[in-house]
Amino acid sequence: MEDRLITGVGVSPGVATGPVYVLHTELPEIAHRTIARDEAEAEVERLHEAVSDVRTELEALRERTRKRAGVEEAKIFSAQIAMLEDEQLLGDVRRLVRENQLTAERAFEFAVLELKELWAQSSSATLQQRTADLAGIQTRVLQALLGESLGDVLHEAGDRPAIVLTRELTPGLTVQLEQALVTGLASEHGTRSAHAAILARSLGMPCVMGLVGGIDRVKSGTTVILDGTRGMILIDPTDEEIQEAYVREGLRLELDQELETVVGLPSVTRDGSEVILRGNIDLPEEVTAAADHGAEGVGLLRTKFLVVGRTDLPGEDEQAEFFMRVGKSFSGYPVVIRSFDLGGDKFPAAFRAPPQSNPFLGWRAIRVSLDQPDIMRTQVRAMLRARASADIRLMLPLITQVEEVLRTREILEESIAELNAIGVPIGADLPVGIMVETPAAAMMVDELAKHSSFISVGTNDLTQYTLAVDRGNARLADRFTPLHPAVVRLLKRIVDCGVCRGLGVRLCAAIASEPLSTLLLLGLGYRVLSASPGALPLIRWIVRQIDISAAREAATQATEAATTSEVTAILEEHMGQYVDLDLLEAGRLPVV
Ligand code: PEP
Ligand code: MG
Repeated sequence: MEDRLITGVGVSPGVATGPVYVLHTELPEIAHRTIARDEAEAEVERLHEAVSDVRTELEALRERTRKRAGVEEAKIFSAQIAMLEDEQLLGDVRRLVRENQLTAERAFEFAVLELKELWAQSSSATLQQRTADLAGIQTRVLQALLGESLGDVLHEAGDRPAIVLTRELTPGLTVQLEQALVTGLASEHGTRSAHAAILARSLGMPCVMGLVGGIDRVKSGTTVILDGTRGMILIDPTDEEIQEAYVREGLRLELDQELETVVGLPSVTRDGSEVILRGNIDLPEEVTAAADHGAEGVGLLRTKFLVVGRTDLPGEDEQAEFFMRVGKSFSGYPVVIRSFDLGGDKFPAAFRAPPQSNPFLGWRAIRVSLDQPDIMRTQVRAMLRARASADIRLMLPLITQVEEVLRTREILEESIAELNAIGVPIGADLPVGIMVETPAAAMMVDELAKHSSFISVGTNDLTQYTLAVDRGNARLADRFTPLHPAVVRLLKRIVDCGVCRGLGVRLCAAIASEPLSTLLLLGLGYRVLSASPGALPLIRWIVRQIDISAAREAATQATEAATTSEVTAILEEHMGQYVDLDLLEAGRLPVV
């Protein structure tokens, strides 16, 4: 079966089976041709007509999206229209036509290429999305200029039920394919956060992205199973494999219905222990998703996106305004903001970091913010200002030394004095908590606790540093196991120490989105979990299914286990008393 399987990223759940249609949406070939000087204005006119035609197309797509998926999703097309009519872009195209005597097609192609190159230098997810959107617009404008139509290809793709496989899915393509007889979508590029992925989810179309080499391996007409939940396609499946896929899909739908039943209900175990569920927010768009899924505040606001993809650092006003906005969405609940966690694999231009041979063990996170104290100061001042109107809290990443907390507190005191001196309203008593995500912090948690307002465990890094396994190395993926007994024992030590010190101990990492780990964490004594917004309904449901007494027993056994498989088996055995494990497996969520 291995050789028939192509794995990617499941971005929209569901199963589809049938023949594949490979849709080639490569850009049309543009012949190099220069124009005479007196043809320039006619060329500019042609450009404007093409832009206007594409605008009409995009408006129709926006309207359809609004009806089928909702107002928020439709905004994707408003952003594309704005991108299409961007005066700087169009001005560049006109200049290339008039000064370099290029055809409108050639000039548009050049101008877009320049923009893409500029954006490609950034690792920002937002800019990557914008690049995908720009590619969609580019194809449409060039086709309009050349008098070609995407409609013909789509007609062919959609004249019988098929699974469409393409190099890159754009939002426009996704909506248009949804109109045709298309049952599933697959692409070589793209990730969960791509606009096309968001749309596929809203439209309920099973979709897998990131199928590297998919187009070379699957020819049009080949029958496949596309599994958008697990993120894979299986070529030439047997009847049995098709049947199995639909059984799993049935279970997933059953689980979905179960999750519907807990919307708005409290997260309390069967035997009455209350659990607080908060959201981890990576991107501003996730604020609404977390609030909609009943998050009682934000347990981890990653501020990385504020700096990635730009050449300057965001100022105090910009940060304060953003923090206030998030605070407003969670009125009455805490919003835990992590100071910049830069370094590791992400060093945006704004930091001008020296090359490091071992970035994960290098100049990262709190080390950067304290070595360049103005970075920390600006964030702290912005948080103090936002705390005037919301329950903002500061959390420090990658702590390994007590001095790091003490130094931050000094900056906090200085900032309070500075802002008071100039009469800026600020909130009192900004809590300063730490992330426990290194073995050093786990071992020193009792000392760190003396200077911290709260503790929040980050098992993504804690696992990486404890097991000496690079979390981003796909080759070591099967060794990256947060349920390794060493991590489990550290988790127990951390919560026990924190509770003894009378501190709130939380956890805000990927394992809080997983059912089995939830059982373990509750059993160990964690009562505040922060998970990715999409996982909150599942975790709420799990909490409501289980007894804390059984969770405790499972956790005790897990801390005595010798291997990861033993820990997993213990948790499965206890979970199996309450929940059908096949049901959980079928609804398995991608870990974010
Ligand atoms: C962690 O390390 O567990 C964590 C939550 O932080 P990040 O994943 O952003 O490094
Ligand atoms: Mg971390």
